[in-house]
Amino acid sequence: MIDQGLFGAIFLTQLVARVKLAFMAEAREKIQEKIQSIRGMNDICDPEIHLWQNLEKTIRETYESFGFVEVRTPLLEPANLFQRGVGTDTDIVEKEMYTFQDRNGDWISLRPEGTASVTRALIEHQWMAEQQTVKVYYIGPMFRYERPQKGRYRQFHQYGLEIFGVENAKADAEIIAAQSLLYEKLNLSEPELRLSSVGCQNCRPAYKEILKAELGKRLQDIPEDFHPRIQTNPQRIFDLKNEKVQKFAGQLPKLLDHLCGECKTHFDSLKAHLTDLKVKYVVDPLIVRGLDYYNRTAFEFTSQHLGAQSAVGGGGRYDQLVENIGGKATPGVGYAGGFERLVLLVEQSLKVENRFDAVVVSADEQGAEAAMKLAMDLRRAGIKTESDLAGRSLKSQMKRADKLKAKYCLILGSREVQNGTVVIKDMDQHQQAEVSKNEIVEHIKKALNV
Ligand code: AMP
Repeated sequence: MIDQGLFGAIFLTQLVARVKLAFMAEAREKIQEKIQSIRGMNDICDPEIHLWQNLEKTIRETYESFGFVEVRTPLLEPANLFQRGVGTDTDIVEKEMYTFQDRNGDWISLRPEGTASVTRALIEHQWMAEQQTVKVYYIGPMFRYERPQKGRYRQFHQYGLEIFGVENAKADAEIIAAQSLLYEKLNLSEPELRLSSVGCQNCRPAYKEILKAELGKRLQDIPEDFHPRIQTNPQRIFDLKNEKVQKFAGQLPKLLDHLCGECKTHFDSLKAHLTDLKVKYVVDPLIVRGLDYYNRTAFEFTSQHLGAQSAVGGGGRYDQLVENIGGKATPGVGYAGGFERLVLLVEQSLKVENRFDAVVVSADEQGAEAAMKLAMDLRRAGIKTESDLAGRSLKSQMKRADKLKAKYCLILGSREVQNGTVVIKDMDQHQQAEVSKNEIVEHIKKALNV
């Protein structure tokens, strides 16, 4: 007969073994589980990355030709910067921000847009104390928890620019002109510039009352979740994508017809500057920007080629923003465009060629060592070059040179190393020659015109 103690010990050992096995199986499953990028957040890689780099270069060159200077602000900011800067009554702050507590218990947000951060930097570094006009631009990722679809992502990129310190409409015209020149340089027949004025603290309150009264008469046609906004921010009715609302939105009173004298003069002056600068626009009184901080100028560049997400970018004047964030009253005007949407627009029109100037291939081991050194000499001379790292056969190296669309293929083997020469093959002309190793860099530079 087995004694009770022994039976208990065997049972316990088996139980421990089973639990261990279960844990191991779960751990194995976890290891094998596919780890994927977060929904709405994309990798940008070859071949798309070449178009991105090209676009970035054109944006920088265009903005810098107007004297805008780049600023790079952190991706993380105190959450209250956006509450104060973007406004608590906006979709961005109400529903779309990535906000969390850090290990110290402080509330942090991933930036959903660039203007609030740039304004914080302006105040923090006292840029206005050094100069009367500040002109800055930025390019970088932004984060909004939106429902992803074509042209709308949770991590997306914006290129934007701001002018601080100028109240007159010349600054608004320059921001718009910089944008317009960028789209011209990219050969885009679109986007179309839609322009409006959202008034100021003097003319907006009276207009708001007129609009509220009008909306009060149509409550049955307005979605219930919008009803509280009728009191706080009734103009957002023009942003609603609701079918019933869109039917009557055109007949509602427009702020553009209720501007005070100063706002009207500012708007007329902006239109005159744009005409002088040969920038085409259409006046669209239904433009209401989704962010609270705008006054006077509000504008959007839109395109019909983008489907539902037709906004290429938007901007306007924000004369109260610096004060709202805690600085001295300073007028400002800016614009932000969506990088991904620009990529979608130029994809059809711009073919970016990613060609290697030279690929050095080696016929044997002695050639391989010389190839690595020659590739480095060529790169020092500014020539985009690749050489084999994996010890592939001559045939497969030649195939790769073809795939990389190399303009020249340089062949090195022990014979060439001993003779102090390199065989150079022009891949477009299909011609081959032998050149002295000492002259090869100059030879290729001349051929490439660099
Ligand atoms: P906003 O800061 O909302 O005025 O946006 C400026 C521009 O950024 C828009 O016109 C779009 O081109 C782009 N944009 C805004 N949100 C997104 C998003 N979730 N995904 C991609 N692009 C966006």
